[in-house]
Amino acid sequence: MKFKIAQLSGDGIGPEVVAQAVKVLKAAGSKFGHEFDIRSGLIGGAAIDRTGSALPEETLKLARWSDAVLFGAVGDPKFDDPRAKVRPEDGLLAIRKKLKLFANLRPVKVYDELADGTVFKPDVIKNTDFLFVRELTGGLYFGKPKKRWETSAGRKAVDSMAYSEQEIERIVRAGFELARSRKSKLTSVDKANVLESSRLWRQVAIEVSKDYPDVLLEHMLVDTCAMRIMLTPRDFDVLVTENTFGDILTDEASMLAGSMGMLPSASLAGVPAKNTKIFGLYEPIHGSAPTIAGKDIANPIATILSLAMLFRYSLNLAEEALAVENAVSKVLKAGHRTCDIIGSGKKSAGTNEMGDLIVKALGE
Ligand code: NAD
Repeated sequence: MKFKIAQLSGDGIGPEVVAQAVKVLKAAGSKFGHEFDIRSGLIGGAAIDRTGSALPEETLKLARWSDAVLFGAVGDPKFDDPRAKVRPEDGLLAIRKKLKLFANLRPVKVYDELADGTVFKPDVIKNTDFLFVRELTGGLYFGKPKKRWETSAGRKAVDSMAYSEQEIERIVRAGFELARSRKSKLTSVDKANVLESSRLWRQVAIEVSKDYPDVLLEHMLVDTCAMRIMLTPRDFDVLVTENTFGDILTDEASMLAGSMGMLPSASLAGVPAKNTKIFGLYEPIHGSAPTIAGKDIANPIATILSLAMLFRYSLNLAEEALAVENAVSKVLKAGHRTCDIIGSGKKSAGTNEMGDLIVKALGE
């Protein structure tokens, strides 16, 4: 089969980790007999440097041409000045919004081989396997008013956590559908004891649950959830939550997996269902990690696992997705580690070498 892939590598370690995923993509193409037309575009700081815009029109066109987008990360300290008019992160927020990528799937899986290399007790986190479904185009990051102004008493600023019932319904529905394909338990995370938008969220979740009598729905306050992720991570199956809560909780949850470099994500324009193709953008959950960029030490596994999600959700290639995931497991089982997940007695691998090892395992 033939597929069109837009490659948006971005800044910092983005190009290094995406290059490894592209190697795996090409290897999977040879193994399974697929042809991938891969075209690159600019986004983030790299795009601002060349065009003045964090998301040039040409990049948006490229993404719309493609079946799926493989994305690295954006962000560069040289744009950190709070007075800067345009920032690399604007490119990512804009592409999510323009492509209507409202459902951000972030699986959190603890590999047995890594369970004793984290800051947690292995018997607390072993067999952890849950899925975050984060709303991606609403909430605090996009709500209006969003501004900063001068008053006689000093500077003030406001962001708004705004949600419509339609926005809540479609993401909660995605959560229920995904829970149905797993262990049929959905945890809806909110702050309904304080926030009005959370009270609407909870009400809509209860209304939608009537269509899913086979799925157990529980509600959890976001602060309790942050604690439960550390204490009893195995209790979760699928969690659904708003944009900012999901952003923060998934960075926290990544520590269960050992490193930010282990967690993939998919940002989808529809509700996932078996045997359907949904347009999506696939990226590691981590950022551009500028301090380790160019040193060949970044972990490419999160990006390679994001490619597996791309196969599964946007190309309907379940077998290929599983083959990539199995290749990652095989390499970890053989004791190879990048420095963020290294334990005593393990074999240290750079970014490139880790990509090569996974390509080799895929071919075996
Ligand atoms: P970060 O995710 O880039 O890094 C956090 C920590 O994790 C750092 O210590 C980093 O070295 C480490 N790390 C991240 N990815 C790793 C990998 N693959 N292998 C090994 N170690 C890894 O977050 P940050 O430092 O807060 O932000 C850096 C820049 O990235 C900022 O400009 C920020 O705005 C941006 N950012 C972008 C995205 C995105 O593109 N989706 C997400 C988060 C942050």
